[in-house]
Amino acid sequence: MTEEDLLGVLNSAPVIDGQVVETLDDPQLATLRDELHAIIRGEVDPSSLMPILANAHQVPVMNEQGIQWQLVAPAAELQRAELVLEWARVERELPGRLRPCANPECNKFLIDHSKPNTARWCSMATCGNRMKARRHYARRREEA
Ligand SMILES: [Zn+2]
Repeated sequence: MTEEDLLGVLNSAPVIDGQVVETLDDPQLATLRDELHAIIRGEVDPSSLMPILANAHQVPVMNEQGIQWQLVAPAAELQRAELVLEWARVERELPGRLRPCANPECNKFLIDHSKPNTARWCSMATCGNRMKARRHYARRREEA
């Protein structure tokens, strides 16, 4: 599970033509995604994720890279447990960098890797340009 996988799940309910569109087939994964959205937005306490990890544990395995920790959980829960752990890793290693897109009509998230930590959009090509154009026209209206 990587950061891209986490973002892929977080961004799996995009707004298209003003409607949130569900793209996940797994309702349990969709529920977890919605819960992570609420946690990232500060609306829900992260402790609500603990039941997902209730049956998970890690075991050491030896491979070419040395000793690694491998997640073990019931098959039906493994993906969600991995997702929660990846979210926790991003929060720990990149504090404050996982955030909602600044476009209030967007339902996507971003992980900011820029040095100044000022990225605001899920995508400059879509939300960034749209919001800049909106601000530009709003200014012109005020000047007129
Ligand atoms: Zn966006």
